[in-house]
Amino acid sequence: MQLTGRNIIGFETFSEGTVAIQAINPANGETLAPLFYKATVDELSLAAQKAEKAFQIYRKQSGKQKAEFLEKIAEEIENLGDTLIERYIVESGLPQGRAIGERGRTTGQLRLFAQLLRDGSWVNARIDTALPDRQPARPDIRSVERPLGVVGVFGASNFPLAFSVAGGDTASALAAGCPVIFKAHPAHLGTSELVGKAIQKAAAATNMPDGVFSLLFDDGHEIGLALVKHPNIKAIGFTGSYKGGKALYDAAAARPEPIPVYAEMGSVNPVFILPRILEANGATLAQNFVSSVTLGVGQFCTNPGMLLLQKNEAFIAAIEQNTNISTGGVMLTTGIRDAYMRGIENSKNYTKVIGIGKAPEGFTAVEPVIFHASIEDFTQNPHLSEEIFGPTSLVVEANTKDELLVAAQSLSGHLTATIHGTPEDLAEYADLIEILEQKVGRILINVFPTVVEVSHAMVHGGPFPATTDSRSTSVGTMAITRFTRPVCYQNFPDSLLIDELKSDNPLNIWRLVDGDLKK
Ligand code: NAP
Repeated sequence: MQLTGRNIIGFETFSEGTVAIQAINPANGETLAPLFYKATVDELSLAAQKAEKAFQIYRKQSGKQKAEFLEKIAEEIENLGDTLIERYIVESGLPQGRAIGERGRTTGQLRLFAQLLRDGSWVNARIDTALPDRQPARPDIRSVERPLGVVGVFGASNFPLAFSVAGGDTASALAAGCPVIFKAHPAHLGTSELVGKAIQKAAAATNMPDGVFSLLFDDGHEIGLALVKHPNIKAIGFTGSYKGGKALYDAAAARPEPIPVYAEMGSVNPVFILPRILEANGATLAQNFVSSVTLGVGQFCTNPGMLLLQKNEAFIAAIEQNTNISTGGVMLTTGIRDAYMRGIENSKNYTKVIGIGKAPEGFTAVEPVIFHASIEDFTQNPHLSEEIFGPTSLVVEANTKDELLVAAQSLSGHLTATIHGTPEDLAEYADLIEILEQKVGRILINVFPTVVEVSHAMVHGGPFPATTDSRSTSVGTMAITRFTRPVCYQNFPDSLLIDELKSDNPLNIWRLVDGDLKK
């Protein structure tokens, strides 16, 4: 498929803008054809108009119709074959195995939402039947989740497929019944266009309304900010930096009509290794920890950026050994590499270096670095708890259990926290679990946090500053409720109710009827 560099607006493509941008191959620094046109504010307005019009139709599509759309998107992504994989690799510097795996995750995610829609029970239908003889009489009251409206989504740099054009935010918004206007990440313009065309094709093939999906290119903040401020936009999905996420959140809050921004931002994902397991299994844990830190050049939101333990010299020596034989890799963009290098240099001022790995050949290649801080250094320098995006981590050694608990108590919000411990450790440190439950969205035991399963129970979220709304997840099927709101229908005749709420339950979904969950 030929790339055009044109903005996709509903079923049409445009290129009103004259300023063109290009993706860069981070492995060798070469610019990649073609030129992409930066979207203009007029193009954004057109996309927003079409999306609003589309919403009036799309919001009424049945679960089955939306499921067919999502399944068709997955199929069209697969139909892109090697063209997509090759473009992904040159734009991201990530290896083929990762590209193929991420494509599978993306199509699997779309199909999981399709399955949710076919099942239908996700809508949280509640029915309180009328009690005319009660004093006072109770009217018939029914409620159900309904779509919010047009959603603006920002692509993440570190997942060119799974958190990008047809990624989790788009899949959950479309599943909820919301049209999407997507602002492509400038690091993977070609990958974005290919997937955008797949969605456009799937929308046409499944008779979705024109404007249900648009894709805009930009490498500055103009279009992104205009998207957040546009009155037709009713919610935002974002994955990226704290600075970016917070700026968009503030812009959304300052609108005449404020809207929710679901921004997933920085997270350091503390890992605690408890004394008995450290004694029993320290060598393996050190090896697995360094592997987890360097996986994907550390460019995961759930990268373990901090490890806390009680003093153990042998373990620190094992970390040093494993780090020194580790290899970094090519980072996604020069901006991300520069931020990593700045973070590393800054940390050197406050910590000791435990080990430094090797950097391979490559334009944006970096080496892994593991730092060490005493508990005093850690508690006195709050910025040591800030994310350095890349293959690095900070090992903090405490003297006692109490110091470890104080360190845990001082943590801000993160996506994950991990505890490694024997059953005896876990029983003795039950209070640590209590503390961490109040700090993060996901607690893991005896595994590393890097992998995030796309499933029904997954929570990929957490208290601020990990996200701007700790009540939500951006991964897994629960993500759909970010883009819906409950609507209540009182005293409605059955003929006016949507199928989800009709008395004879034509969709055969699970509903809470007079307090009982039933079909
Ligand atoms: P980013 O700078 O936050 O950018 C993400 C997207 O938001 C881009 O499309 C960007 O547009 C846009 N954007 C950023 N600030 C904006 C603003 N003030 N107004 C309007 N739009 C704005 O993230 P990134 O480029 O992916 O990576 C930079 C840093 O983010 C990394 O070094 C890392 O620290 C962090 N990061 C964290 C995670 C995580 O999951 N925790 C993931 C990825 C990145 P432009 O690029 O066109 O400016």
